[in-house]
Amino acid sequence: MDFNLSEKQNMLRSSVREFSDREIEPFAAQIEKDGRLPDDLIAKLAGLGMLGMTAPQQYGGAGESNVNLVLAIEQLSYSGAGAWWLAAMNNSIPACMAHFGSEYIKARYVPPLCKGDGYASIQFTEDDTGSDPEALKTQAVPSGDRYVVSGAKRFITFGARDGYAMLFAKDEDGKCTAFVIEKNTSGYSADKTWALMGAGGIEATDVHLENLAVARDNMLGAKGKGFGVLLWWIAHEKVIQCAANVGMAQAATDEAVRYARSRLSRGKPIADMQGIRWMLGEMDSRLEAARWLTYRTAFLQDDLARDPGTDAAKAKLFVVPATISIVESARQVHGAYGYTREFKIERLCRAVLGATCIATSLELNKSIVGASVVR
Ligand SMILES: Cc1cc2nc3c(=O)[nH]c(=O)nc-3n(C[C@H](O)[C@H](O)[C@H](O)COP(=O)(O)OP(=O)(O)OC[C@H]3O[C@@H](n4cnc5c(N)ncnc54)[C@H](O)[C@@H]3O)c2cc1C
Repeated sequence: MDFNLSEKQNMLRSSVREFSDREIEPFAAQIEKDGRLPDDLIAKLAGLGMLGMTAPQQYGGAGESNVNLVLAIEQLSYSGAGAWWLAAMNNSIPACMAHFGSEYIKARYVPPLCKGDGYASIQFTEDDTGSDPEALKTQAVPSGDRYVVSGAKRFITFGARDGYAMLFAKDEDGKCTAFVIEKNTSGYSADKTWALMGAGGIEATDVHLENLAVARDNMLGAKGKGFGVLLWWIAHEKVIQCAANVGMAQAATDEAVRYARSRLSRGKPIADMQGIRWMLGEMDSRLEAARWLTYRTAFLQDDLARDPGTDAAKAKLFVVPATISIVESARQVHGAYGYTREFKIERLCRAVLGATCIATSLELNKSIVGASVVR
């Protein structure tokens, strides 16, 4: 068992962090104000090799390990802006398409997503459901060599950006089936973009599907087995979320240490007080545990024969509350200044909360882990 990162992995971490400090951090406030990522970010991330990292090389990916992916995401999220979501989507979705897709799907859709020629989306949630495939209302009706899809989707990250999406609908047998769709197609439109509490730049929109024609060849995985595709993708997305939260908790810890060293109380830095040191000590220990659980879970995901669901749920269940508590303590170290909008800690406080409810709520993860323990 070797817990050391290789030289290549350390270089990956520092190059992504340097990118984040240069290309994202200075624009983080503007991204939140606009609720939109800069249009050139996707090409820059592709240039850095940050898209399609785990997709197979023969389909334009880098064939990297899931550990390397989470190492990169951890550094990319350091600013607290939602830019890491773009990397999350254009990594997890091509990887999922490569895992479940036919040769046709792999050759046609995975390479452009790895190159940054299109924004990847996942389209499951609707107004009545975020987690229950039985409650889906979007219908896919067969018609010759196509399916005709009609319905509405909610909170679709990058739903309004051109590119390719994994779409989930009820087929003619009432079962959840997955398809790959091209967003820039007649019958597809996006309207409302939701104003979010944090992680600006996620660009979560509502999507309307009106007689959208989808070739049968675009079915992803077996007919009626779409929920399995969704669960596989969610398991990978959860570990990416954990990595992003670890990155933000590290940023919060760094902010708190910096503040505690410079803030004086009774003539001395508050960092000298035992109470503040206890807080920083607890934050640092939790951060270490959260980070290693994330790495370990990513490592397990490289074994494609292993069901990734329970491992990922366990990681999310620990890492998300732990990182929220770290960021909250870091805010408290800032005293009243932590409650203003002038300090980075405020952005981090809002951003870490996203993982409690996006790509499964914490409660559902408790149920998944609990069921596995009982089994
Ligand atoms: C910024 C953002 C981006 C998003 N991006 C996407 C996207 O790209 N694609 C997409 O498809 N969706 C996306 N979503 C949707 C998101 O994944 C869902 O909203 C999420 O899964 C929660 O579903 P819900 O809101 O319907 O919650 P509900 O299922 O209505 O849950 C509400 C509450 O009830 C609890 N609850 C519900 N069922 C159970 C249960 N069985 N056991 C215990 N507790 C339960 C939940 O824990 C929660 O506290 C996004 C959401 C946001 C906010």
